[in-house]
Amino acid sequence: MMHRLLIDGKLTDGASVTDVIDPTRGEAFAQAPRADKDQAEQAIAAAKRAQVDWAALGYDGRRPYLERFAEAIATNRDRIAETLTRERGGPIADCRFEVSRAADAIRHFASQKIEDRVIRRNEQELIVEQRYAQGVVVAIMPWNRPMTLLSFKLGPALITGNTVIAKPAPSTPLSTLLLGELAADIFPAGVFQTLVDANDLGPLLTSHADVAHVSFTGSTPTGKKVLDSAAETLKRFTLELGGNDAAIVLDDVDVEWVADKIYAAAFINAGQVCYATKRVYAPRAIVERLATALAKRAQAAVLGDGMDPATTMGPLQNKMQFEKVLAFIESAREEGGTFLTGGQPTGEGYFIAPAIVTGLPNDARLVQEEQFGPVLPIQAYDHVDEAIAEANSSDYGLGGTIWTGDVERGIEVASRIETGTIWVNQHMALPLDVPFGGAKESGIGLQNGVEGMEDFTQLRILNAKLAA
Ligand code: NAD
Repeated sequence: MMHRLLIDGKLTDGASVTDVIDPTRGEAFAQAPRADKDQAEQAIAAAKRAQVDWAALGYDGRRPYLERFAEAIATNRDRIAETLTRERGGPIADCRFEVSRAADAIRHFASQKIEDRVIRRNEQELIVEQRYAQGVVVAIMPWNRPMTLLSFKLGPALITGNTVIAKPAPSTPLSTLLLGELAADIFPAGVFQTLVDANDLGPLLTSHADVAHVSFTGSTPTGKKVLDSAAETLKRFTLELGGNDAAIVLDDVDVEWVADKIYAAAFINAGQVCYATKRVYAPRAIVERLATALAKRAQAAVLGDGMDPATTMGPLQNKMQFEKVLAFIESAREEGGTFLTGGQPTGEGYFIAPAIVTGLPNDARLVQEEQFGPVLPIQAYDHVDEAIAEANSSDYGLGGTIWTGDVERGIEVASRIETGTIWVNQHMALPLDVPFGGAKESGIGLQNGVEGMEDFTQLRILNAKLAA
């Protein structure tokens, strides 16, 4: 079946088509419509036209549309999840979970409302904080979690009265196109639209005078380009960028328990998660035992086609990322790393056997940079202050975790980490009513929570003199 773009309420062919590669096999399995600049202009114009009436509906008027959309996504969960398994790779159960979570997020934000806030009211004056929609929002997405990451933008942006154009990563366009196909029967024309590109529409979308807000999730280098491009028109923007999250293990943990936790935190989606654990610091006394326990779990991973229920780990999502991770592996070998297991390409697609690496210097590339793949460095420390300093030495500051047998102690250490979110004895808990965002080069702005909704609004102070 040929997918179509959603532009101005109509399901539309692209100006051309682009191949979609199945990373499990390394070959094209479908084609996606590819929009050209004219179609992008049409979408922006339609979004601008639609936004006035959409905003005028108010929260109560908009809510039923979002509820229907969430319901449609939930009803079509299996179909979307199968597409996701094909285009991004990974176990079908994880893809189903991702789609359900996207539906939950849209449902959650449908139920939210930003109320006016009275700052001062007395006989002389009335000062109120009001918030109104910014206008046309462009959501630019990465390929690792196409559904959830989009829902964290769609729900808050739409419910606050903005219209949204979603531009998925070129390598995972189909699941987003499916959302557009569902939305076509639900939203008024122009409220939600989909544009697929070949990495070429970003500059137009992020510099266009009629786009009010660019909500970008992706790598830090591209995020910096977005920032540059938004400057000319002083656009509002949200940047959710890369991370190099540290897990700090304290000396009071049960090693087998923490190995389960860290394995799950690091190898989820074959390490291709912004919040995945990307480096581990453990006390020298237990580092070897921990690395061995992690290696045992990595060896038990079943790599394969996500449609096979036995599969526990999928491939790297695209060839470029596959080659990038292989380069990290090579550099780790050159810098003296010991591979306890994994690191070799395997199978016909972009698979890499999950790797546990010890013995690297703290300034090794694999420790300092974001690998975004199934290769985990385990570093030894002598004093916890050293681990905290290493965790904080990064240019990134997205997430991080402290693992301990003593939660009070964990909270103390956690409170010294410079990052947008820090977990203690759990990982990647991201409740929808809690904001998340990056410190340092991991981003600017917040998503989710009331703060994430506020980021899609303009603050207006109403200041009235009531008495002469
Ligand atoms: P990427 O930066 O290569 O691409 C992201 C998107 O930007 C794609 O849709 C791409 O087409 C588009 N793009 C490319 N050039 C552009 C330009 N000049 N202007 C505007 N848009 C442009 O990122 P990726 O490789 O798809 O994703 C992986 C990265 O995303 C990792 O660094 C990961 O940590 C990060 N990420 C962050 C979060 C978060 O919430 N902080 C979540 C998921 C992924």
